[in-house]
Amino acid sequence: PPHPSKPRAARWDHHLSAESAAREPCVLKSAAAKHLGRPGLISLGGGLPCPEYFPFESISMRVPRAPLFSERETAESGVDVTIGKYDASAAGGEDKVYDLSIGLNYGQATGSAQMLRFVTEHTEIVHDPPYADWRSCMTVGSTGALEQAFRMLCDRERGDSILTEEFSFSTALETAAPLGARIVGVPVDEEGLVPARMDEILTGWRPEERGGMRKPHVLYTVPSGQNPTGTTQGEQRRREVYDVCCKHDVYIIEDEPYYFLQMDPYAGPEAAAGGGKEPATTTAAPVDPAQTPVDEFLDRLIPSLLSMDRDGRVLRLDSFSKVVVPGSRLGWVTASEQMVERFLRHAEVANQGPAGFSQLVLHRLLDEEWGHEGYLRWLMRMRREYTARRDVMLAACDEALPREVVSWNAPAAGMFHWLKVDHTQHPDAGSKSIVEIEEDIFDRCIDKGVLVARGSWFVAEHGRPPTNLFFRATYAAAQPDKMTEAIRRFGKAVRESFRL
Ligand code: PMP
Repeated sequence: PPHPSKPRAARWDHHLSAESAAREPCVLKSAAAKHLGRPGLISLGGGLPCPEYFPFESISMRVPRAPLFSERETAESGVDVTIGKYDASAAGGEDKVYDLSIGLNYGQATGSAQMLRFVTEHTEIVHDPPYADWRSCMTVGSTGALEQAFRMLCDRERGDSILTEEFSFSTALETAAPLGARIVGVPVDEEGLVPARMDEILTGWRPEERGGMRKPHVLYTVPSGQNPTGTTQGEQRRREVYDVCCKHDVYIIEDEPYYFLQMDPYAGPEAAAGGGKEPATTTAAPVDPAQTPVDEFLDRLIPSLLSMDRDGRVLRLDSFSKVVVPGSRLGWVTASEQMVERFLRHAEVANQGPAGFSQLVLHRLLDEEWGHEGYLRWLMRMRREYTARRDVMLAACDEALPREVVSWNAPAAGMFHWLKVDHTQHPDAGSKSIVEIEEDIFDRCIDKGVLVARGSWFVAEHGRPPTNLFFRATYAAAQPDKMTEAIRRFGKAVRESFRL
């Protein structure tokens, strides 16, 4: 273990599905990993094609020079980088050099050694998990990683179920459903998942009252900028969530694509819009990525569940999608050695790790051009950009929405704004269901030229009607002036439907 002074993770055998427990190592890959390092060995073993037949001599790209990240600065003073086919042999075969002949060949399903080293160091810098035998493993992004994690932990025959926020990422719900894993929604407040309510659900669990469903043993949660509610768990909240999971032997999947998009409190017109209190945020002063020391940025981040994980009960999903490029299809998981090994056994027979092109290009940018500090400065910039976008959306909401029926909390992280519409005041509240009113507003939105996401799309528990009316609006996609216009259109649609 890299940290012999720390305790080892607990064992999670009783949480594994029969499918996961039955996975055997890939015999070809284990032989390659064991023997290929031996000097003088001539391999007639694995089917690795000769790089001589790779029709790529080099890849060239222009990237920003940290911390001059804008498109204008990149055009003026960006770095031109070329990745050659045989850089490693040209440099005397140093294992540090990662070239096309290596990166485009078959590799281990953990991802390339170089990329894995970078994310492992990054994870240590940001989270420093408090147990000895943690590991990271590259993934093809969090969508696929979550499918692997659910299949590892959920067993249809066992009647397994998953706890999650009462409104949850719809793709996660769609991932769980065909696996036969039922979803149990936990109520949320302005800081997300409510630990006391989760404790109540678990303490009072009677399988016979739940159609034979076993007491949930997995929590799937998005602690920062939750999709779709935009809520962020503060540090204390996270500690309480963790403790309830310990009490009830619940294994945690922490899905954090928005972790670094934690924002300063909204300081715009009437900050606590909608009468809600300010949700958890880390700090006050805005962060200038070029001026602020990275340590200060890291200190201000709300600690992750992984960073408080004394048992090794957390499997954390990280992704480059929201903070670098979604098309990289690159992310990583971090968990105890036991759980990463099970995860890897699935990766070996499913996607066989992420694409070589993707790993080569991101590694060159992140490790060789930017380094850890440069990458953290990039993340500081992303956080600042999203804070500015959020502020535009909140100002537009302040200006254009009928406060008597629409309310909200300022998001403290991520890309989503969650708007609550008071359906009880709707003129047809007596005759129409929440979903019918939602549909009426949604159709009017489309007529007026704005697309928002309907709250009912995210209801965690299959078939349960929503108890309140919500819409999700993202400030990631549109340009600021378009965003303001879109919110005005949404406001008109609500007014019209409510005959205000
Ligand atoms: N988890 C959450 C909560 C998300 O919102 C998203 C993207 N919308 C993902 C995972 C998927 O990320 P990736 O691109 O890494 O598959």
